[in-house]
Amino acid sequence: MHELSICHSIVDIVGRHAAGREVRTVYLQVGALRQIVPETLRYCWTLVNADTPLAGSTLQVDSVPGAVRCRACEHRQLLTDAVLVCASCGGRDVEIVAGEEFLITTLDLAEA
Ligand SMILES: [Zn+2]
Repeated sequence: MHELSICHSIVDIVGRHAAGREVRTVYLQVGALRQIVPETLRYCWTLVNADTPLAGSTLQVDSVPGAVRCRACEHRQLLTDAVLVCASCGGRDVEIVAGEEFLITTLDLAEA
């Protein structure tokens, strides 16, 4: 379960940025191609932060759908299945342009 190690990394990063301030919510953007289950991630978050200053904070996971761009005709489309074919020109020279994100976007901190 790689969600657990991901949560350990998030605790490290957020802990450094919060610099002792109380964190209420951590907002994440996670690409659909990352094979991360948001429910599992949120559950692991409560396990991992239990003995840290982040205990009680919430993980808000925003899922980003996968998308590809055709190199031949520039057509962009959402990635709906595993077959990478351009819906516009039928070309197979497509590149993934969204869905691999893993970003901590915002920290909601308590009032000082
Ligand atoms: Zn195309």
